[in-house]
Amino acid sequence: MSERKGSIGNARILPKEVPTPIYSITPFTLLDYPGKTACILWFAGCNMRCTYCYNPDIVLGKGVVSIMEALTFLRSRKGLLQGIVLSGGECTLHPTVFPLLETAKEYGFDVKIDTNGSRPKVLERLIARRLVDYIALDFKALEHRYQAITESTLFPEFAESLSLLNCSSVPFELRTTVHSELITRDDLRAMVGFLQQHAYSGPYYIQHYVNGVPVLGKLCRSIKYAHFSELSVDGIAVVERG
Ligand code: SF4
Repeated sequence: MSERKGSIGNARILPKEVPTPIYSITPFTLLDYPGKTACILWFAGCNMRCTYCYNPDIVLGKGVVSIMEALTFLRSRKGLLQGIVLSGGECTLHPTVFPLLETAKEYGFDVKIDTNGSRPKVLERLIARRLVDYIALDFKALEHRYQAITESTLFPEFAESLSLLNCSSVPFELRTTVHSELITRDDLRAMVGFLQQHAYSGPYYIQHYVNGVPVLGKLCRSIKYAHFSELSVDGIAVVERG
């Protein structure tokens, strides 16, 4: 899950055998890790094809930055940044996040992961190894709309990730991007009900689709719904973001 395109690419050509999972690095952000100064590592590739994805070049593109290069960058930011954000694309598809984060934790960084929730076993291992401090989990849709929106059948995996995070002590947030052609207000109400049934409590962030930005699929103009807070229920505050 991802919000914005990476801003700095690293076009250095590496030998073929060196894995280069990272598409680009944003060296500084105040917006992407709540309450922390951070950088963003954008991982190439994704196992979904959300129509509204803002990062088609990252999802469809190849990485050009190796883990070693990313670590060199992180070493240069030790003591200057508080955190790192792993985004993309879908970072949990890349086994190299484990050695990357082991070293990043040694450097003292807090770690946030943006994920579509499709790899609950990877999330479980990251949590068990204390390699992640905050998770932003995309709630794309309920099962009957999931394939139409993501071109994947990964709803059960998302639900497993939600259950995992509900039972873990790692702070996390849930967020849904809303395009009026894809998600109705009634869909949102039903999604809140699903969260209630799954014992979630906390904020549930709604992000409006931004018209006019290049995306993965073809979409009409989205109409903004108003008064999201009316969808809040006991224990779940529906919060409009951005
Ligand atoms: S999960 Fe969807 S929105 Fe997120 S990076 Fe993949 S295709 Fe884009």
